[in-house]
Parts: sequence; structure tokens; C-alpha cells
Amino acid sequence: KKMGSQSISSIFNPFMKEQTKDILHTEFNLRKGLDMNEFSLYYQPQVNCVSGEVEGFEALIRWRHPEKGIIPPIEFIQHAESTGLILPIGEWVIEQAFQQLESWSIQGITTCTLSINISPRHFLHEKLLPFLKKCLRTYQVAPQQFIIEITENVAMGDYLAAQKRITDLHELGFKVSIDDFGTGFSAFIYLQHFAIDEVKIDRQFILDIESNRKSLGIVKTIVDLASLLNIKVVVEGVETEAQLQLLQAIGCKTIQGYYYARPLPTGEIEQWLHARSV
Ligand code: C2E
Ligand code: CA
Ligand code: CA
Ligand code: CA
Repeated sequence: KKMGSQSISSIFNPFMKEQTKDILHTEFNLRKGLDMNEFSLYYQPQVNCVSGEVEGFEALIRWRHPEKGIIPPIEFIQHAESTGLILPIGEWVIEQAFQQLESWSIQGITTCTLSINISPRHFLHEKLLPFLKKCLRTYQVAPQQFIIEITENVAMGDYLAAQKRITDLHELGFKVSIDDFGTGFSAFIYLQHFAIDEVKIDRQFILDIESNRKSLGIVKTIVDLASLLNIKVVVEGVETEAQLQLLQAIGCKTIQGYYYARPLPTGEIEQWLHARSV
């Protein structure tokens, strides 16, 4: 709210840049949103387009702002990352995901994986492993059902630390996925030196796949390479039947996109699953 940002701003000099003010404003609101329990996770299915089986879900954060309505992550994750608030938010996401997996298992939904997004700053943070261990002790969830999505850019920070972190996560039983594969820093280095379980092909390679032979070629190359290296591939952002058919023809199996479902809140996702199985 207005008052809060003014009280924070007044500590600083009046020549403070507008941008800084915005960041403080956002930080204050983010913190308040966290305290007021305004965040929620939406879940988007990942479907095997050959068997029709639902293999898993990706958890995607939403901020239900009391005045502004639902705010998408693109509008606040960057701020959260730069202010450090990504830590409490990321821990909230992890715990929420554990609770959801436990609740699904009670409802008999036991074979699905759940993927979560962890920001580079949180991924390399010393608190990540202790927090995950605590959740493993608290919730009846197999770590193998949990997939941790990171972007290629984590290795830009500290290459060796990122490598070590992936090994530690594997030792705990978690799987690790590279999100937006091919769009960031040194994609091939990841395949060569990092023990990753999955790559997610970014929507930007799918968008024009019907008209741009290069896009189809890139996707096919990633799929073939991943298969050779025994790495699972998830294709993101599939919206149309035509895209799906092209992807199927080059060997893609796991599909995540509006074609099957948009991200849905808990409750609706169980309905969606139920409607598919009857
Ligand atoms: P992402 O991890 O690459 O997630 C995929 C994004 O693509 C999601 O946007 C999803 O709703 C959208 N999407 C999926 N299928 C389709 C499709 O067929 N068409 C189109 N147009 N879009 C599709 P969303 O939920 O707005 O999330 C945006 C980004 O915010 C995510 O990209 C991720 O980088 C970040 N994010 C989301 N949740 C979290 C979180 O809990 N923690 C962190 N650190 N980042 C998150
Ligand atoms: Ca993701
Ligand atoms: Ca992605
Ligand atoms: Ca993305």
C-alpha cells in the first residue's frame, strides 16, 4: 500500500531515483503479500502425447493481489530476485509443493512428478539443502517425484558450485531439469559436464515451428542429442494440433502447453485429471 512505501522512502533523500522507489515499493508489497498469504501455486500438466498419460505438473507461482487481482510471475520474480526476497518466496514454493504432493498421494494421485522453479540466487544459496532436507522429514513425499528446474544462467554465477549443488540434490534423490534449454548460457556445457535429468525446450523454438525449418531442426537436434545422452525432454508452449503433430513426428513425447491445459489452481487441476480419466 501507499503509506508503507512512503515510510520506507522517507529514510532516503528526496533525490532518490524513481526506479529505486519502485523497487522499494515492490519489495514492501512482496513482503506484505507473503505475510498475508497472497501467493498461490498453479499447476500445468505435462502429458505424454503418445500414450496420453499425464506424467507430471509444473508449479507456477501467482500473486493474488487484493486490489490488482492475479499478478503473473513476470511482474515480480525479477524484483524478488534482486531484493533477496526470492529466498522466502522460493521456500514458500518448495513447502507448498511438498504439501501438494502429499495431498495428491492421499487422493491416490501417486505417479505424477511435480516440477518447481528455483531462481539462480536461491539455487546456489547455502540454505537450499537444509530446507529441502527439513521438508523431506516433514512430508511423506518421495524426492524422486520432485523435479527442480533451473536455468542455464545459474552456471554463470559459480560454475563449480552449481555442479556441486546438482550432485548434492541427486544424492538426496531429487531430479534436476534445465529450463528454457538453449536460450541461455552455454547449453552444451550443461550436457557435457552436469548430471542433469531433463531439459525443457523453450516455447520460442515452438512458436514458429510450422513456418521456420530452422526451429524444427533445432528442436529435432535437441531431442536426438538428449535421447543419446539419456536425458528426458519436455517441450513447452505447445498450443496447436499442427505443432503437436510436427513434434510427434520428430520423436517428442512429453508435452506441456495450452494445447492440453493452462496452469490451473489446486482443485481445478484434480477436476481436470478426473475429467480425463473418465
Ligand atoms: P517458465 O518456467 O518457462 O514457465 C513456463 C511459462 O510458459 C509459464 O508462464 C506458463 O504459463 C507459460 N506457458 C505454458 N504453456 C504455454 C503455452 O502453450 N502458450 C503460452 N503462451 N504460454 C505457455 P508463467 O506461469 O507466467 O511463468 C513465467 C515464468 O515465471 C516462468 O517461466 C518462470 O521462469 C517464472 N516462475 C514461475 N513460477 C515461479 C516460481 O515459483 N519461482 C520462480 N523462481 N520462478 C517462477
Ligand atoms: Ca519452468
Ligand atoms: Ca521454460
Ligand atoms: Ca521461461
